[in-house]
Amino acid sequence: MNININEPADLSCLPAVDEILRLDSIESLATDTPRVHLANWTRDAVDYYRQKLLDGMSISKDELLSAIARRIADRHQSDALQSMQRVVNATGVLLHTNLGRAPLSRRAVARMQEAVGYTNLEMDLTTGKRSRRGARASELLSELTGAEDAIVVNNCAAATVLVLQATAAGQEVIVSRGQLVEIGGGFRLPEVFKAAGVRLREVGTTNRTYLRDYEHAIDEETGAIIRVHRSNFAQSGFVTEPTIGELVTVERPRHVPVIDDIGSGLAVDLSKDIAQINEPDVCQSVASGANLSLFSGDKLFGGPQCGIIVGQSKWIDQLRSSPMMRALRTDKLTLAALEATVEIHLSKRAFDELPFYQMIRKDAEQIRQECETIANTLSVGEQYEVSVVEAQSQIGGGSMPGVELPSWCVCIKSSSSENLADCLRRSTPAVQCRQSDDSVLLDLRTVMPDEVEILVNALKQCLV
Ligand SMILES: *Cc1c(COP(=O)(O)O)cnc(C)c1O
Repeated sequence: MNININEPADLSCLPAVDEILRLDSIESLATDTPRVHLANWTRDAVDYYRQKLLDGMSISKDELLSAIARRIADRHQSDALQSMQRVVNATGVLLHTNLGRAPLSRRAVARMQEAVGYTNLEMDLTTGKRSRRGARASELLSELTGAEDAIVVNNCAAATVLVLQATAAGQEVIVSRGQLVEIGGGFRLPEVFKAAGVRLREVGTTNRTYLRDYEHAIDEETGAIIRVHRSNFAQSGFVTEPTIGELVTVERPRHVPVIDDIGSGLAVDLSKDIAQINEPDVCQSVASGANLSLFSGDKLFGGPQCGIIVGQSKWIDQLRSSPMMRALRTDKLTLAALEATVEIHLSKRAFDELPFYQMIRKDAEQIRQECETIANTLSVGEQYEVSVVEAQSQIGGGSMPGVELPSWCVCIKSSSSENLADCLRRSTPAVQCRQSDDSVLLDLRTVMPDEVEILVNALKQCLV
């Protein structure tokens, strides 16, 4: 047979876009996909196969139609993976920032559900009069932390900007050189200062800052003093800096607050569970006399993403009347989840109700047994080697660096661990694992009891 490279390709078998869109298999995708997307994907698929035909591919019209339909279905599937959905976290990182940090408690979810329609967001149901958004959350937070008042914004980064701007715009804010940190996601203190319109007044050195350094820096330019917790790294060796209790003793004009950015928001006694805790406690920060203390709602507080500011009424009032506050305020769903989370802390039920604390307390021996059970139910081909290995879970979310919780993983060794991880991630629901060299590791500490079955099913499908 001769191949005549000059002969024009036969494009007559290429179906029309309309014809493809009328296929039952494509029509059925329209229930959860905008038709405009389907039409675009169809055109792309037709273009793709037109080029293939021009390149000399030979295919029957029926085959071509199903090849195009398959290509559209694949596109639909990868498109669906872009929407927010449930992910089983088998990484062993408890506050995984990429997976949404702290999972919410049932109580928080129920309260969000209550608030999805109309809700008393800014209405007092006892009087029928207008009330202040977040008033209940503020009350509960004050009660929990011992502070006079509290307000809630979108996240702790927003809290930092608001506090700096509202207390010290156009003035200097004094900070130790050892605390000019980057929190992550490009949140660098010097840049935050700039964005808030305050000037940085660095004192001390990277490893040692004394109380007298702050005292010497106070002058008519000073707008505030801030202490920033080094959430995501630890310093050791020849290191010193004043405690927040010492910082508040610095003599300063009445308009200069001492701000404590504690970041993680620990409000639970973890001394029984973790040997060395280097996290500032919210109540201690308030009791030490900080004028304002800031922390995240979705780190060690175990609630929704938000930034919580607690402190003295005089300062909180000042923040409340800032025009920035209107831009940074939280929505009703966040407030509903936060109220529930603070109630849980107030009734000392963190270990009973907050998933983060339940995961912290999960017993390593129990985790090992869960791993054994899963490993035993998997029947795998020769290309895989399944075992149960010791591991360390991490807190994550830039909290408690260096703290490791003893745990166990199901370990699946193979020459194609990348493909296995990919398949698990594309399962429904998705499963995110940890990878190490040629193994996929599944840490059961961060897998909820009702997710074990999901995990096993995903494994069975991917290990064929
Ligand atoms: C995490 C952290 C922040 C940022 O908090 P987000 O809620 O993530 O915005 C700010 N300051 C400190 C000390 C932190 O640890």
